[in-house]
Amino acid sequence: MQMDQSLNKTRGFLAIAMLACGVMALSLGNVADAQEEQPVAAKAGETVSPIRALLISGGCCHDYPRQGIIISKGLAQRARIQVDVVEEGDGKKDHQVSKYNEANWADGYDVIIHNECFGDVKDEAFIRKILKAHMEGKPAIFIHCSMHSYRNAGDIADGWRELIGVTSRWHEKARPINVVNAMPQHPVMQGFPEKWITPTDELYVIEKVWPNCTPLATAFGPQTKTEHPVIWLNTLGKTKVFGTTLGHPNETMLSEEWLGVVTRGVLWTVDKLQENGQPVPGYEGSGITPIELPGLKPIPEKSLPVSR
Ligand SMILES: [Zn+2]
Repeated sequence: MQMDQSLNKTRGFLAIAMLACGVMALSLGNVADAQEEQPVAAKAGETVSPIRALLISGGCCHDYPRQGIIISKGLAQRARIQVDVVEEGDGKKDHQVSKYNEANWADGYDVIIHNECFGDVKDEAFIRKILKAHMEGKPAIFIHCSMHSYRNAGDIADGWRELIGVTSRWHEKARPINVVNAMPQHPVMQGFPEKWITPTDELYVIEKVWPNCTPLATAFGPQTKTEHPVIWLNTLGKTKVFGTTLGHPNETMLSEEWLGVVTRGVLWTVDKLQENGQPVPGYEGSGITPIELPGLKPIPEKSLPVSR
């Protein structure tokens, strides 16, 4: 019943998208086909291909060269995830990532990780190219400033937000954020503490939670005097989405809390997460070790979890 409602919503969204944007409607058959392309769980002793992830990063205000290292190494240590990195923009907010202009740009990848900050890209046709892959079923991860990308792009910006699951346009003043685990029983939140105080980060103000979004963790904003989701899951039709607004500084990304929950989020979007929060057999990671970054100290050994 819930799935029927979800599909009906998808049909509604697609119909609106077709009318509003003049793009061809995508059939639900295509959505189902896209899901079937995902890798299958490994049998005992079988070697599987890694989950292939494409990280799109770059734009304003963050240390994208090092964040690419943190995300690609951190995920591979925790699950069998191979991350290809596309980083462009030279810090500019209005850069259009060239990868999105390739026909079928997301082909060959099981999941797309968006860690981009392009708030001044307003070209609706360009943004429709990004959305199309996800509306056809490609799973997505949204990190921090990707929530604020394409926000000035007119009506299509709401298509971007519906895909993400939340609407945000600004953040509170940077400070350590008190994160509360709202769904400790959920597989994605296994191993995440009941409460976590982040390094100094930015609490994004969430103006709207879209209907299919499930918040997994929240934080109280002292400026807005409101609880804001900071980690969540979303679905759009059959497309599975994980999002977190946390991740302004490298220090947040280097934490086990952040890398652990983002890894489980990736696994959830591609149906490779067990109820206990571990990857399905065959998709284990290489093992957790300190990530050394140029010009930064590695995470102290004592703060690392015991490698599983
Ligand atoms: Zn930021």
